[in-house]
Amino acid sequence: KRGRVRGRLRHLPMKPNDPPTVKLFIDGKFVDSKTDKWIDIHNPATNEVIGRVPQSTKAEMDAAVAACKRAFPAWADTSILSRQQVLLRYQQLIKDNLVRNLTGVFLLEVVEHACSVTSLMLGETMPSITKDMDLYSYRLPLGVCAGIAPFNFPAMIPLWMFPMAMVCGNTFLMKPSERVPGATMLLAKLLQDSGAPDGTLNIIHGQHEAVNFICDHPDIKAISFVGSNQAGEYIFERGSRNGKRVQANMGAKNHGVVMPDANKENTLNQLVGAAFGAAGQRCMALSTAILVGEAKKWLPELVERTKKLRVNPNMTCYKEEIFGPVLVVLEAETLDEAIKIVNDNPYGNGTAIFTTNGATARKYSHMVDVGQVGVNVPIPVPLPMFSFTGSRSSFRGDTNFYGKQGIQFYTQLKTITSQWKEEDASLSSPAVVMPT
Ligand code: NAD
Repeated sequence: KRGRVRGRLRHLPMKPNDPPTVKLFIDGKFVDSKTDKWIDIHNPATNEVIGRVPQSTKAEMDAAVAACKRAFPAWADTSILSRQQVLLRYQQLIKDNLVRNLTGVFLLEVVEHACSVTSLMLGETMPSITKDMDLYSYRLPLGVCAGIAPFNFPAMIPLWMFPMAMVCGNTFLMKPSERVPGATMLLAKLLQDSGAPDGTLNIIHGQHEAVNFICDHPDIKAISFVGSNQAGEYIFERGSRNGKRVQANMGAKNHGVVMPDANKENTLNQLVGAAFGAAGQRCMALSTAILVGEAKKWLPELVERTKKLRVNPNMTCYKEEIFGPVLVVLEAETLDEAIKIVNDNPYGNGTAIFTTNGATARKYSHMVDVGQVGVNVPIPVPLPMFSFTGSRSSFRGDTNFYGKQGIQFYTQLKTITSQWKEEDASLSSPAVVMPT
């Protein structure tokens, strides 16, 4: 079953020669778990067990939330410039320590973006709505927020979550993927070195029990989730039922529409890279190509072996996400037919059109019901001053990750109507009670 929680749970006591274990991060300390339940971490290339991650006990998870809650008032009260300084130091430490070892700078773009919090968190004002009266709004943090991350992009996706939440003044409980918890632990150490006070970020580990704990705990106000639909729908439903804000970025089936007027050489290269790069384990991987009209003839050049492939849109490999290096190839006679195929698919994460005709590109961008559209760009992930706007079955919630929407997700508005009368002007001012 595509059950997704793949780690094997062990109840055995640890022995001296066992692989290293991952610690918890609670109230500024990296601590060993007291659990007797451990999940193996595998090297995906060799399947060798390279470490073990604890399934945090209830007491440990309670302690982590309590630390978040204790740290919140002082952190929310810290000046926005001081929080910005922590983030400025953090992005530099990530560059100095991690970018050389991990993939590239794109993993910290959201951290860099979070440094512009002083502009992003501005409220609104409306002076003189009547005599002596002004109206203005503040953006304020929510309290304790939580994040649940997937295995792919083990550093980048946690960095979509806690830096944005924390720079707004929230404290954060993170549950990394049990398959790749190490990157989050490194990120926590660097955040501590950047000056984030004890308790502002806490990390627990585990699978279903940790997820249920986060969905149910009354002190957690908001949950950010990235991962599969199976887990995301469940977390959205359970967290929302408990009155929390939930944003859930989920699975995808991204289509690249290839028009016959496209630059053939460039398009075929882009398609192959976007379908098979990162072993297809990107939510924005282009896993389906639609060859329109004469572009159908390009199939042999795209992948020789896929020539014989016959795909019916009713087949499971088309309807469900494969999340691997597989490109499904469909054919369409016209652009309208291609748009219908894309819009009939339940997912709305990303799509691309390859064409040299501006009117075709414009029509596609406007008619296609997908949240992120590339024009001759195969993987159109927006830069973080915009938001990650997957739609339909690829997203649950109403406020997206990062950009302005990310700030909205992690803040609430307080609107203040105030009247300051000059002493001798009181008799000429209007009444401020509700009219009856
Ligand atoms: P996953 O859903 O298996 O795991 C994600 C998190 O949910 C983990 O922390 C895991 O412990 C927890 N979890 C897993 N199954 C659960 C369940 N049944 N109940 C409660 N919690 C559960 O996802 P994954 O395999 O780690 O990641 C791959 C998936 O993530 C793909 O579907 C991919 O498209 C998606 N993804 C989406 C985006 C996006 O922005 N839309 C980005 C990256 C990955």
